Amino acid sequence: CGIVGFTGAHQAAPILLDGLSKLEYRGYDSSGIAVRDGLKDTEVLKAKGRLKILKEKTNDGKSVKGTCGIGHTRWATHGEPSEDNAHPHVSDDGNVVAVHNGIIENYQELKEKLVRNGYTFYSETDTEVAVKLVDYYYKKYEGNPVDAINHAIIRIRGSYALVMMFKEYPEEIYVARKDSPMILGVADGESYIASDVPAILKYTRNVYYIGNLEMARVRKGEITFYNLDGDEIEKEQKVIEWDA
Ligand code: GLU
Repeated sequence: CGIVGFTGAHQAAPILLDGLSKLEYRGYDSSGIAVRDGLKDTEVLKAKGRLKILKEKTNDGKSVKGTCGIGHTRWATHGEPSEDNAHPHVSDDGNVVAVHNGIIENYQELKEKLVRNGYTFYSETDTEVAVKLVDYYYKKYEGNPVDAINHAIIRIRGSYALVMMFKEYPEEIYVARKDSPMILGVADGESYIASDVPAILKYTRNVYYIGNLEMARVRKGEITFYNLDGDEIEKEQKVIEWDA
């Protein structure tokens, strides 16, 4: 339902929680964040119910260290509202961590393929299937995130704003989008991701709109866009003139 992401020179968790609170008006049943500090293990924290509970669990984000992270408020479509079903979801060995808005229509057949390939599922969500599909292709095709995402999304039917971190690529976030809103913001040495403008307006007004079936690699203050061929594409930066 609500998505945020940040990579930059500041602590990520307080920025993620603040962004999620700006998206609360959309409604949600659970929330979660994943934050990483360089090559250390990613910390994932989730809570069922109000964002307030996640804020309490993390001391307003202060107890979670790291300058790169993603966050989510969930409105359940597949699987009941619960901590297990809340995002972020993580691939079996922690290689890919992701949040997702939308619906993966063919998740059942993709899940069966992944189970045949040795994957285990810990939630009832369609999202966990997308995460593990990306992990599957990442391992199959030499560990390039854009290639892996590309192979996954051409097999996914449905809608998604997918925001991912890869273990071997610290300080970077990767995104893909189809029929679900997402914007990307940049400022000096930092980058933001959100499903809606209010989450980032306090931090930057310089944004990019990512198109359907496009991907992006988000680094600190630098975003590169890709089409389905994996080719880099040029995007014009826009300035948001209005107030939320
Ligand atoms: N379909 C996903 C789920 O049920 C994402 C829902 C959402 O957009 O919040 O977990």
